[in-house]
Amino acid sequence: MAIMVYNTMTKRKEEFVPREPGKVSIYVCGVTPYNYAHIGNARPPVVWDCIRRFLRYRGYEVILVQNFTDVDDKIIQHGHLTGEDPLALAARFAQIYLEDMAALGVEPATYYPKVSGHIPEIITMVQGLIEKGYAYQLDGDVYFSVDAFPEYGKLSARPLDEMLVGARVEADERKRNPMDFALWKAAKEGEPAWDSPWGPGRPGWHIECSAMSLKYLGSGFDFHGGGTDLVFPHHENEIAQAEAYCGTKPFVRYWLHTAFITMRGDKMSKSLGNVVTIREACARFSPKVIRFWLLGTHYRNPLSYGEEELTAAANGLSRLETARENWRHLLSTPVQSGEDEASPAVAGLVAQVRERFIAAMEDDFNTAFALGILYELVREVNKWAFSEDFVLTASCQKVLKEALSLLEELGGVLGIWFAEEPAATGLSDEEINALVEQRQKARQNRDFKTADQIRDTLKAAGIVVEDTPHGVRWRRV
Ligand SMILES: [Zn+2]
Repeated sequence: MAIMVYNTMTKRKEEFVPREPGKVSIYVCGVTPYNYAHIGNARPPVVWDCIRRFLRYRGYEVILVQNFTDVDDKIIQHGHLTGEDPLALAARFAQIYLEDMAALGVEPATYYPKVSGHIPEIITMVQGLIEKGYAYQLDGDVYFSVDAFPEYGKLSARPLDEMLVGARVEADERKRNPMDFALWKAAKEGEPAWDSPWGPGRPGWHIECSAMSLKYLGSGFDFHGGGTDLVFPHHENEIAQAEAYCGTKPFVRYWLHTAFITMRGDKMSKSLGNVVTIREACARFSPKVIRFWLLGTHYRNPLSYGEEELTAAANGLSRLETARENWRHLLSTPVQSGEDEASPAVAGLVAQVRERFIAAMEDDFNTAFALGILYELVREVNKWAFSEDFVLTASCQKVLKEALSLLEELGGVLGIWFAEEPAATGLSDEEINALVEQRQKARQNRDFKTADQIRDTLKAAGIVVEDTPHGVRWRRV
């Protein structure tokens, strides 16, 4: 089966054909690190981490680039407010952002380019655009001329008057067209500035992504991602700059946009003041629950943040984690003799689950469907393996083993298995097993006082002991 993706450029699902067989190149617009990132900022990187894992699982070699906009008005303003050098402030919050990503189980991108490290590349590109007649100089500023690029607007496909509103164009009599946007801005007092052929200044926002994606991925790369709010003007401008500069198209083969996050019905945004940082959300729930919640809705649908939604995600994740632990435990018990076999329904499901999971992910990376398939596996296997008359025969063991390995493998593709945290008391698995065994012996000797004492000791160490029809099992809580 082919991978189908919804391409914002064509407004339809298309078959994914990589630029180079076996290789996938991805660019995702990153953050402007001037403060703690909010959970809306976590959606694109978590979604792309998952897409990247899936593509690798399907045998592709993947390069993923995500930028940091470390030269920006907001960073300069915050630097002025706190008295911190703007570049130092950006570097500090970029580091905090990377820690947030690590907490959410996002594997580091292949490259994390920063604007401040790519000024020469940006200047070369701006210079090239002037030489080719796509840009013009105004005092110390340089503007891109949208009239010189007739395809301007092809991604957002909006009427010009709507674009004008969207762009929040500054009235500037000097510009040839109000839609023209800055590629280079002349230095103002107290701002970071670099020398250029047009005098000291700094890049406009949009040019960095064209310059850095072309540097790391080359023209015509596979996927470009970001939030829907970036379609216009940011991505529209990236296309204009890159295609005008390279003289080739397309700049990007597939544009994928993640929908926004809402809170109590409103879009979460700093301007509305209803923002929850990644750190706050992780402290309140947990990083693995936040990740699970982010993957529980298809990336093109809006996602609601709230107590109810996050509690549902926590319960969903716990259902999968508990099944994994219970199945592992059951498989650690001795095999019984007998002829019992798994029901055809369970055996059939186990045989098909990988294929169905892949089909869900191949359908525009539908993580919500993929998770639904894992829930179904857990529900059906639990119904069978924890029924009263279940006997772990050799044949049943084989099916259960296969179910466990599928749950681990496919959950791993979604990145939902987080490293188990060490118990607060530092009890190792061996020590816990020894205590559980002592407790069993005490119970066999009808020494219930000792048995209860051991149980309490374990409980204090964050270990819950459960007596199940298949023997004693323990888990860390
Ligand atoms: Zn960008």
